[in-house]
Amino acid sequence: MRHVILGAGPAGVVAAETLRGLDADASISIIGDEPEPPYSRMAIPYLLSGRIEERGTHLRKRGDYFAGRGIEVVRARAEKVDAKAKRVHLSGGKSKTADYDKLLVATGARPLTPPIPGIDHARVSSCWTLEDARKILAGIKNGAPVVLIGAGFIGCIILESLVAAGAKLTIIEMGERMVPRMLDQTCGELLQKWCEQKGVRVLTGAQVAAIEDAGKSGVSVQIKDGPAIPAELVISATGVRANAGFLEGAVKLQDGAVLADERLASSDPDIFAAGDVACGKDFSSGEYSVQAIQPTAVEHARIAAHNMRQSGAVRHRGAVPMNVLDTIGLISSSYGLWRGVDGGDSGALLDAPGFRYICLRFAEDRLVGANTLGLTQHIGVIRGLIQGRFALGKWKQRLVENPLQLMEAYLAVTQA
Ligand SMILES: Cc1cc2nc3c(=O)[nH]c(=O)nc-3n(C[C@H](O)[C@H](O)[C@H](O)COP(=O)(O)OP(=O)(O)OC[C@H]3O[C@@H](n4cnc5c(N)ncnc54)[C@H](O)[C@@H]3O)c2cc1C
Repeated sequence: MRHVILGAGPAGVVAAETLRGLDADASISIIGDEPEPPYSRMAIPYLLSGRIEERGTHLRKRGDYFAGRGIEVVRARAEKVDAKAKRVHLSGGKSKTADYDKLLVATGARPLTPPIPGIDHARVSSCWTLEDARKILAGIKNGAPVVLIGAGFIGCIILESLVAAGAKLTIIEMGERMVPRMLDQTCGELLQKWCEQKGVRVLTGAQVAAIEDAGKSGVSVQIKDGPAIPAELVISATGVRANAGFLEGAVKLQDGAVLADERLASSDPDIFAAGDVACGKDFSSGEYSVQAIQPTAVEHARIAAHNMRQSGAVRHRGAVPMNVLDTIGLISSSYGLWRGVDGGDSGALLDAPGFRYICLRFAEDRLVGANTLGLTQHIGVIRGLIQGRFALGKWKQRLVENPLQLMEAYLAVTQA
């Protein structure tokens, strides 16, 4: 059996390892287009803040790790998949093609380039790859003005590292609050206040009109109907898009990603997808969407690998959307249907001066979503209650009145 895996990120690596564990004799190749050993993007913030060196980002530390397991790692780029011939067309490597029996697409996503004049200036970078991280590290000096475009999940993850690296940071966010696709209004506004108290300038509801060259001092970031902000470095974090274009015509795509069923199979039964490139099942909504986080990538990869080996044996219940952010020491989180559901109740508690907030969302008497800020002790309980779909009975009203009784509720309903 020839297993070909496209993409050498966490999804690709975990799938290869799982396949090897299931089949000692199969031929397994990982084909990735980056000039690095397989690494984790999640570790980049730690690299930026100096807490680890580059090697610390590598997914497996030993140089002979993959060869020792009979897993071939090839550097090349997949350009096209001929599903009929079961062949991948490649560029940039020694071989021009790779033939497969089962194919896993684990090519992740890439940052979007916003249509801003000057966005291609040498002082502008994304923060997505190790190459980007090197460029940012070279460009950040203590006290240097840095502009971050976008206060979404990735923007907020790197924010702390930029501050730790000594940047004098301004954040420009188009939405009305920080992390608008993860945090509700109260939470987003508290997070903004927290950042401002830590010396970060945050402009929400603001749009970058242009980035202009300012000679030796860097660039000038022009805000629409607003000021011009000088910057030695600009980091663009305005969203990502799945790397699935090369599959056009081979499998069904949804929202630009590979539509992957409960087995993580695409519309072609021999082509599977995992991670940021996959439009997989959402546990909370039952719908199919991209959940661009590493735990989902790894979960997808394990299930896809089992089904590549043994068609259809393992099914995915769907990933619980869950994001946890550490923003200069303040932890915020979102779970499941954090915006709530039609006709559902909610229970919230706010301590604004203490930067503490929790909002629980219910559908009938089940917990279906939550936002928290400054409270970390309930993370496991919230996830457990959502994933277990426990009927809370009388505990639902108690939680509406006091959301901090989560642990008591959990013990009562799970030990009933
Ligand atoms: C700075 C940063 C911080 C993050 N922090 C967190 C966090 O704290 N928690 C969390 O859960 N998630 C985090 N993420 C997101 C997480 O890194 C991704 O969800 C995860 O990397 C997805 O893994 P993947 O294997 O699907 O894709 P990737 O890691 O993107 O790997 C895909 C690989 O495939 C390659 N590829 C693309 N196209 C082709 C092609 N045509 N041919 C061959 N190879 C190709 C890519 O270059 C890449 O090497 C972070 C991301 C970034 C950028």
